[in-house]
Amino acid sequence: AIKITALRKSFNRVSVLKDVSIEVQKGEMVALIGSSGSGKSTLMRHLSGLTFADRSSPSSVEVLGRKVQKNGRPAKQLRATRARIGNVFQQFNLVNRLSVQTNVLIGALSRIPTYRSLLGWFTKEEKLKALQALESVGLREHALKRASYLSGGQQQRVAIARGLMQEAEVILADEPIASLDPESSRLVMETLQKINRELGITVVVTLHQVDYAQKYCRRAIALKEGEVYFDGPIEDLDTALLTDLYGTNIPEGS
Ligand code: ATP
Ligand code: MG
Repeated sequence: AIKITALRKSFNRVSVLKDVSIEVQKGEMVALIGSSGSGKSTLMRHLSGLTFADRSSPSSVEVLGRKVQKNGRPAKQLRATRARIGNVFQQFNLVNRLSVQTNVLIGALSRIPTYRSLLGWFTKEEKLKALQALESVGLREHALKRASYLSGGQQQRVAIARGLMQEAEVILADEPIASLDPESSRLVMETLQKINRELGITVVVTLHQVDYAQKYCRRAIALKEGEVYFDGPIEDLDTALLTDLYGTNIPEGS
């Protein structure tokens, strides 16, 4: 589902990603880990086509068999590819003054080539589909509440429902549980796991807390100073590796 080849990125001549190559198969749920500043968010932004690689060296980023960028330039079909990618961010990114259901319906907009329906109302089918998406993340009964009335963890699950509305085939979640308590974190991770298992949606999730990666993901990719330091089954992440990544204070969330 994802193929990154020879990705290099620098900001102000400081190299942040150094020759990163990664492949993720359709249906996988992968944890992207590494200490603060190792390049996790930057890598995720390249997958969404929000950041572009250095143009000075050949690279490519493909999602769902389509180019997102090549040699640091946006691909022609970037918009269509983006429509298939759901994003969940650390800050909840819902529109506070809209209802939960309307926030999910926003996912339908990515399917529309022009912005015609912003002027009208969503169709009955779309509204029903939004309720079904909320049902799958366990929030059906909150549909009509104002988004800002929901807890942080519930808002993250609304963002996941928005991805479902979008019919995303890949969900990229950058630190979705970083500001949540253990109970909310568990519910968000379980929701990601559920949509991965039941709907076959490919999930890449960056996590600060190693114990959550170990609990919910089969595979981990660890970045260290902009390089892939580890890529393999989660159980191969032993103490020696984790100490190399984080020092003696291995971050845990629960
Ligand atoms: P964290 O765990 O704290 O979220 P991260 O692994 O996500 O860290 P990134 O946010 O990808 O790390 O940042 C990697 C490096 O790139 C950092 O040194 C950061 O300061 C730098 N960086 C990221 N974005 C920019 C930018 N737009 N301009 C300049 N430097 C940037
Ligand atoms: Mg980050």
